Amino acid sequence: MQPPIAILGAGPGGLALARMLEINNIDYIVFERDETPIAIFTGGSLDIHADDGQLVLKEAGLLEKFKALARYDGQEFKSVDKDAKVIWHKKFSGQTDRPEIDRPQLRQMLLDSVPKEKIRWDCKVESVEKQVDGLMTVRFANGKQESGFKLVVGADGAWSKARALLTPAKPTFTGLYYLQTTILPTNPHYAHIRSFAGSGSYTSLSSGNAIIAQQVSNGAYNIYIGLRLPEHWTKTNAELIRSPGFRQYLIQTYFSDWSEEPLSLIRHSDGPFHSWPLYSLPLDALPWTSVEGVTLIGDAAHLAAPNGEGVNCAMFDGYRLAREIIRCGVEGLDEAVRCYEEDMFPRGKDSIQKGIDFVDMFFAADAPRAFREWTEQIPSSD
Ligand SMILES: Cc1cc2nc3c(=O)[nH]c(=O)nc-3n(C[C@H](O)[C@H](O)[C@H](O)COP(=O)(O)OP(=O)(O)OC[C@H]3O[C@@H](n4cnc5c(N)ncnc54)[C@H](O)[C@@H]3O)c2cc1C
Repeated sequence: MQPPIAILGAGPGGLALARMLEINNIDYIVFERDETPIAIFTGGSLDIHADDGQLVLKEAGLLEKFKALARYDGQEFKSVDKDAKVIWHKKFSGQTDRPEIDRPQLRQMLLDSVPKEKIRWDCKVESVEKQVDGLMTVRFANGKQESGFKLVVGADGAWSKARALLTPAKPTFTGLYYLQTTILPTNPHYAHIRSFAGSGSYTSLSSGNAIIAQQVSNGAYNIYIGLRLPEHWTKTNAELIRSPGFRQYLIQTYFSDWSEEPLSLIRHSDGPFHSWPLYSLPLDALPWTSVEGVTLIGDAAHLAAPNGEGVNCAMFDGYRLAREIIRCGVEGLDEAVRCYEEDMFPRGKDSIQKGIDFVDMFFAADAPRAFREWTEQIPSSD
């Protein structure tokens, strides 16, 4: 017999939901597109906030495991302009309430917290349909299908295959890309880069472009180059991105008047480059009229331009939905979904708006003006 609940996607949202259901003895299955838990470009450091991400981990019985992995001490945030003139520099001498964890570490911790057989890898969902008996069918890209679910939860990120059952809204391109690469501790320029990029995040902003270095737990830096590019730029530039001259091309084309400090993060990067076109759902994607048998959490529900909140929001959605399911029971899933969605809609809209505001501040034509004004309002104490 099928479990009552199918979760599409083993990201932070889907896994937080799975863990909460697991410890409350409610049966479920997770269908995940990835072939294995290890994806090459899912790196990056995530700050997990006290009032949502950490709260979820506490309720999920995972806070102590998280604390053993997370980086609480010595976190540093530095922002400079294109001439490397410091706009804002904050070093936490003591414990921060926003500790950092590597994304793969968070995923593995959540995966380890549910039985292996509850996650079905290499299951790329193609569509979700309501059966004539009101139960739900999930169809996969390999032509197979699984039927008979009482509830399908789309936790499958930006391009959710469950979303069309709830809203016609589609992600729209923000006009921005992050090109991601890395600087490894073995890089001959590593010591110099560490001397200015520090032990947290370093951001250089100017005229709508950004160069960001984010240190992860093994000491390496993930480098994100933020650029305004056409939507399908990756497809038309696939060869260029892989070519040895790509670093020089970037520097000459987009950063010709930047100083050597931020430029060295591109010039000396170890590569390869992965491109992330950034999308957001429109604000009017929410609310939708509740549909029995299906709901969305995380990016599937309220995809926003990256603004440092997405993982926390996704886990919080998973937790809130689980709480309603626990309260209403498997016989009351429709009521659980309605209550969850009522609570999620304003949070989801807020998250999309934060993405819009973040893009306006970080990538404005006159950046870093708005960012500088924002930092001036932040209290100087830890
Ligand atoms: C470049 C970049 C940097 C970011 N940096 C940060 C940051 O520093 N901090 C932060 O909080 N947020 C950040 N975000 C946002 C954050 O990644 C998301 O908000 C968050 O991961 C959403 O979690 P989720 O579980 O909803 O979706 P996802 O993390 O997208 O997980 C969805 C899961 O579903 C799977 N999936 C997708 N399609 C299918 C399918 N058809 N069938 C089956 N499975 C499928 C995916 O493989 C994945 O495992 C960043 C985003 C980007 C693009």
